[in-house]
Amino acid sequence: MADLNLNRRDLLAVAAAGAATALTSLPAAHAAAPSAAAQAPGFYRYKVGAYECTSINDGARSFPLPDTFVKNVPKDEVLAAAEAAYMPKGMVTVPFNPQLINTGSKLILIDSGNGIATYEPTKGAVGRTLQNLVAAGVDPKSIDVVLMSHLHPDHTNGIRAADGSMAFPNAEIMVPAKEWDFWMSDENAAKAQSNEMMKNYFANVKKIYAGIESKVTRYDWGKEVAPGITAIATPGHTPGHTSFAVASGGSKVLIQSDVTNIPEFFLRNPDWHVAYDTDPVLAQETRHKFYDMAAAEKAMVVGFHFAFPSIGHVEKDGAKYRLVPVAWNPTI
Ligand SMILES: [Zn+2]
Repeated sequence: MADLNLNRRDLLAVAAAGAATALTSLPAAHAAAPSAAAQAPGFYRYKVGAYECTSINDGARSFPLPDTFVKNVPKDEVLAAAEAAYMPKGMVTVPFNPQLINTGSKLILIDSGNGIATYEPTKGAVGRTLQNLVAAGVDPKSIDVVLMSHLHPDHTNGIRAADGSMAFPNAEIMVPAKEWDFWMSDENAAKAQSNEMMKNYFANVKKIYAGIESKVTRYDWGKEVAPGITAIATPGHTPGHTSFAVASGGSKVLIQSDVTNIPEFFLRNPDWHVAYDTDPVLAQETRHKFYDMAAAEKAMVVGFHFAFPSIGHVEKDGAKYRLVPVAWNPTI
């Protein structure tokens, strides 16, 4: 093309010409390729010292932005942030990413995803953890530990297979002690009856853990809860909400769980309150503390609700933060 000063009209003309060419000049020998009509498996491997970690994509949900998705900001402002992040118009997209840690002696799954039964019918948009584990060559029976960050449905319901049986039948299930005490308290459940969302959360925990209550291991903050994995107190999102430092050799990654929900809103705007927080003011305080630390350490951070593969670095940007996603690494 002689004219390099392309403008939009030129681009449209080129596109139209291309389409016409495609329709008329395909060599007859080329059969039309069938469309795959499905996404590729979602898993991404990365190393932390000697540990091989895998980000497992449970899927993503797009839904019309609820009026109070951000409780302390007008909806217009939130819609503008969604548009700035190129989300579908009027919608918000929330991805879900459990992490698999292979320490060499143990296979540890941090959070378990939505489960298949939770949001049916979703046309397979969520609840993909099991199939993506299998695609990554991992037999669900080989998982030793499922380590929960907190007990919201998108993190915990994946411990059940579609038929209600245990999805990871040989795994020890570990839950923050504070989190377990909060959701298992009949007194707390009774207090929550007037709040539809909280009422549903309480009912969901009861349902998912019915019959396996005595098999759950409760763990405390500040402790090494599995080889090289330390539980970090990050309360606010829920009372027992926990993040993790995974360390091996001289390397470390911070698994932030839900210190923010989607970073396009709440890492960018750390003072915004997501509707799902039990104590939004404490969550806001936790967010600043955690990201100030992550930015100072130049730490690699994994976010359950970051876009797949859900790994990046956090930088301070005035009173806000910025997420710099890692680039796909073809070697590990
Ligand atoms: Zn979550």
